[in-house]
Amino acid sequence: MDCHICNKVCNSFIHQKTGIQYYHCEECEYIFKSPKCYQNFEKQKERYNLHQNSERDEGYRAYFKHFLKFILPNISLSDIHRALDFGCGCTSLLAQLLEDKGINCDYYDPIYYPDNLDIVKKYDLIVSTEVFEHLHNPKEVFKELLDRLNDNGYLAIQIEFHTNDQVTFQKWWYPQDTTHIVFFRAKTFSVLCDIYNCRYITDNGKNMVLLKKNSPF
Ligand SMILES: [Zn+2]
Repeated sequence: MDCHICNKVCNSFIHQKTGIQYYHCEECEYIFKSPKCYQNFEKQKERYNLHQNSERDEGYRAYFKHFLKFILPNISLSDIHRALDFGCGCTSLLAQLLEDKGINCDYYDPIYYPDNLDIVKKYDLIVSTEVFEHLHNPKEVFKELLDRLNDNGYLAIQIEFHTNDQVTFQKWWYPQDTTHIVFFRAKTFSVLCDIYNCRYITDNGKNMVLLKKNSPF
């Protein structure tokens, strides 16, 4: 199987506990489950409804604040006029927290707010937390998000990075969630930046990455 990000040939391994086949690209460090395991939209929806993230949940609020504490000092806030939370889940909490910082923020989710995306609207900042691990086609979605950014706009993504070690991966809880199908590291995003002409700004080495769309010239 070729890598769905960089097209290099991947190694394959079987997860001992679940018997699921995975593909691991040494080049861009992307790992993905066999596409046979990808679930349809209705099945995913059942699982997401169990998440029950609440706007009143202090842990959830703290989690987003932690994300913003990493992202916001690395961007020029005066250049951010309009933001989008892509894949917000059932709450607009992250959008509200950005509004509290004086940033006008839209929010969209394919399940909970499917009609919120304006085809022509462009953004200076797009945030996406706990979304990419669910995507059947993350490369295409990455490109779509870049297309929604103004030149010099920022893309901030939160996703747990894997350790690039198959022994640890076998024991990790994260792939055992049936809706988690693709797994990244900072390197994977760096390769995506090279493919789509973006600038890699920074990551926290664990689960957050910040990128910037280059202006054409
Ligand atoms: Zn690859």
